[in-house]
Formats: sequence, C-alpha cells, structure tokens
Amino acid sequence: MLKRAYFDQHGGTEVIQWAEEDLPTPGPGEVLIEHGAIGLNFIDTYHRTGLYPVDLPSGLGLEAAGRIITLGEGVSGYSEGDRVAYMGPGLGAYATHRVMPASALFAVPGSVSDEIAAAAILKAATTEGLVERCARVAAGDTVLVHAAAGGVGLIMVQWLKALGAHVIGTVSSEVKGVLAGEAGCDHVIRYDHEDIAARVHDITNGAGVPTVFDGVGKDTFEASLDSLSPRGLLVSFGNASGAVDGVNLGILAQKGSLFVTRPTLFHYYATPQDRAAGMARVWDMIVSDKLSVTVGQTYNLADAAQAHRDLEARLTTGSTVLLP
Ligand code: NDP
Repeated sequence: MLKRAYFDQHGGTEVIQWAEEDLPTPGPGEVLIEHGAIGLNFIDTYHRTGLYPVDLPSGLGLEAAGRIITLGEGVSGYSEGDRVAYMGPGLGAYATHRVMPASALFAVPGSVSDEIAAAAILKAATTEGLVERCARVAAGDTVLVHAAAGGVGLIMVQWLKALGAHVIGTVSSEVKGVLAGEAGCDHVIRYDHEDIAARVHDITNGAGVPTVFDGVGKDTFEASLDSLSPRGLLVSFGNASGAVDGVNLGILAQKGSLFVTRPTLFHYYATPQDRAAGMARVWDMIVSDKLSVTVGQTYNLADAAQAHRDLEARLTTGSTVLLP
C-alpha cells in the first residue's frame, strides 16, 4: 500500500490529511519510487498556507530520495533498484511511494544515504544556483547570509567558505550561533537583539557587503539593503518571516544604486544541461566532503504536521527529514 499526505484547503497544519491507496503503475516514461527519506522545505509551508497558492486538492512536498521499484514503458538510463532523488516538479513527496517522470530524477551516488540526499538536494541546488550563477560570489568577497543555522543556511555558509568567501551569518539563538560558527561563519550576528546593518558596517570597517542572501524576507529586507555596499546585490530568495511587498524602487537609488533579485531555484535548473551541471556540482561538494549536510532532526512521515509547526516556530536547525 501507498500512504500519502494531501490537503484540500489552505490553512494551518490541521489541513494535512492522509490517504492510503494501492501502489500505482507508472506510465510511459515514468518510474515508481519507494521513498527512503523525504526532505522538508520551508516552501512546503507556503504551499500549505496558500502564500504560494496551488490547485486543490494537492499533495505536499517537493523532495525525496529512494529506490526505483517499477519502471514504466520506454524508460532508459535507469533500472529497478537504482537509487534516485528528485526536487519536483509537482507536489506529493510526503508519501511512502510516488510515481515520477524519469526526466525529473537524479542518480544518487553510492556513498550518499537517502537521508542525506533528501536533506540536501533542493537546498544545495538552491545554494549552487544562487551563489555560483546568480550572485557569482568570488574568493575574498564578504557576504551576509541570514538564518545561517537553517537548512539552506548551513549549506550556504559551507559552500561560500569552500569558495574562499568571508561569511557573516545571522541567527536567533546561542545554539544556532554555535552551529553557524561550526559551519564556517567568520562572524555571527544575533539578529534577535543586535542591529544587523550596524554590525555589518562594524565588521567591514564601514564598507558594507557586496552581496546579501536573504531567505527571511519581510523582517530583514530593510536591514539587508542597509548592509550592502554601493551597487551591492540583495538576493531575496524566501519569505520565512513573510513576503516582501510594496517596495518603492527609489529606495535602491537612495541606498547606493543597489540591485535586488528575487530568484527561484527552478529557473536556475530549467534545462537538462543546467540540471546535470548543477547537480554534478552538488554531488561533488558532498562526496568530496567540502559540504557536510546536517540533518538537525528527523520525524516519522506521519508526524509531518509537527515538523511544519517546528519549522515555522524556528525550532529546527539544519535540514529536516521525514522518514516513511
Ligand atoms: P530554514 O531551515 O532556514 O528555516 C527558516 C529559518 O528562518 C528559521 O529557522 C529561522 O532561523 C529563520 N526565520 C527568521 N524569521 C522567521 C520567522 N518569522 N518564522 C520562521 N522562521 C524565521 O528553512 P529552509 O532552509 O527550508 O529555507 C530557507 C529559506 O530559503 C526559506 O525562505 C525558503 O523559502 C527559501 N528557499 C528558497 C528557494 C528558492 O528557490 N527561492 C529554494 C529553497 C529555499 P532563526 O531562528 O535563526 O532566525
């Protein structure tokens, strides 16, 4: 049997429901995967609440890893038993099994467990796209990373350090500060009580930073702009504290001819070439131990609602994995 989460209205975690069905048969070009681990992402909460509206009823979750148990007609390049992971398209990863198009899959290296693959690929691919192809961070740059002890945060800090950047991270607690420091942050700002921009200017001798990576959104937007050096770039890539809206573009001129981009991973992984090159880079970072992916907590798949509550309450660190 297959067990899967779905929701038929947007709202709190009470909207998450469960269904049990017979195992489906994959169609042409598809495979049936038995999940070993499912990655939790903040975007899952946006889908649930309707911040990012989806057609209802809908499955939940973008990312999982496991092994192929049935091949559909015409699938080449994969065999039954192969270990694979995916990060979309379409919602429905919160399930014991799932039918996916073979074109959406990434082969998982033998040394990478399902848990690590599910904890890593969406967040590390986001990091790869934003750091290397969006902001093009260079060795010696000093950059600011918000929520540095979060899922994307711990990965991004290590990635930036591997490139030779100096990293200033923000966190909301002492424990998170220790984790951000262990990941490589050169400076940690406690943005629960410290002034972000003032501290950034202290650290950089008044210069500000050329790049800010901001997945927190509403609460940090102004401070992120104020932390930039003239002509700096704000990569505003998420809404953990709420969406940034109502921006007066003139503010970018006033604060130093700044650049802002609001990227999404999927535009950086749009073509087969981008997907192959980006994921090769992700696996290389993991397999070569330049990137150590922290699974801060695991939950039984059936406890996905609790995992959402903890993520939204800022109680998690690193990546979170659901186990079927
Ligand atoms: P995290 O594990 O980073 O969790 C979010 C963190 O944000 C919290 O732990 C917390 O850290 C911080 N935070 C600050 N304010 C709030 C608040 N009001 N409520 C909740 N959390 C808050 O999540 P993910 O790693 O899954 O994602 C990080 C961000 O990256 C999200 O905004 C997500 O949407 C975005 N993202 C964007 C992608 C894209 O393609 N654009 C792809 C992947 C992720 P602290 O307690 O230290 O403040």
